[in-house]
Amino acid sequence: MSAVLIDGKALSARKREEIKKKCEIFEQEYGRKICLAVVLVGNDPASEVYVRNKIRGCEATDIRSLSFTLPQTASQNDVEQLICALSADESVDGILVQLPLPKGLDEDRILNLIPPEKDVDGFHPVNVGKLLLGKETIVACTPMGVMTMLRDNDISVAGKNAVVIGRSNIVGKPMAMLLLRDHATVTICHSRTKNLKEICKNADILVAAIGKPEFVTADMVKDGAVVIDVGINRVNGKLKGDVDFDSVKEKASYITPVPGGVGPMTITTLLENTYLCGVRRERAKS
Ligand code: NDP
Repeated sequence: MSAVLIDGKALSARKREEIKKKCEIFEQEYGRKICLAVVLVGNDPASEVYVRNKIRGCEATDIRSLSFTLPQTASQNDVEQLICALSADESVDGILVQLPLPKGLDEDRILNLIPPEKDVDGFHPVNVGKLLLGKETIVACTPMGVMTMLRDNDISVAGKNAVVIGRSNIVGKPMAMLLLRDHATVTICHSRTKNLKEICKNADILVAAIGKPEFVTADMVKDGAVVIDVGINRVNGKLKGDVDFDSVKEKASYITPVPGGVGPMTITTLLENTYLCGVRRERAKS
């Protein structure tokens, strides 16, 4: 059997058209554009690429973007002052601080300064707490993008065994919470998990968010499983996922490719989150 490919690039293009239309309606209704402020500290080349792609995404969806680049030597106070100014700026709907920050900066303190209603990344403890409580909130972009991919392919989650490999705050944990919210029976695995292969083999939906190229092999996958590959690993200049795509696609019913799977949906979900922050802020005023 060869799995159906979940095409994140195509879905992302469709979703961006929808977001653009919604942003145009927002502008007609409120007389201003949705606005995202992107903060980059330092000159990490990968971060520069991510920021550029996010700003391009804004351009494609009629979101106004403000880009702030602080030098590698920026102090904690420099970054905090910028975040405070953007927090107070009524025209800014979303604030994104590109991670990782240079060593020496207190990442938690900086992220916690972003008001929850402008937290487009869904990293603020208030938003994470709301997710845990099952309340409506802004959710981290990568796992939220995965849920959109599942829904778009009519893959039902309720009652399924879902296994998430990885427990990071930005991917693994929110992914597990979203699957649970949609009534899956969820197992979270990590580097101390025993019998990982056996647990994975029981998964109807298997999400790999490990950061190890081609870690998930066919012998870990149940026949007909839905396999979602979050991993982005650079191997000899090429992008590889956490899943051994060629062998696993012969067992899975659905699979995401790398590149062209979860990655494009992450940025598109950021744009959707920015739109949601704008709408909720305007509605909160009335
Ligand atoms: P982290 O390094 O923060 O987390 C990796 C997780 O994998 C940890 O929980 C770790 O366990 C677990 N792990 C590591 N080794 C093993 C092992 N041998 N067996 C089982 N579990 C293991 O990574 P992120 O969550 O930030 O990212 C994961 C991957 O997703 C990376 O490749 C990253 O580049 C990619 N990514 C992709 C995005 C996209 O847009 N497509 C967005 C964000 C990330 P423990 O907690 O015990 O250390």
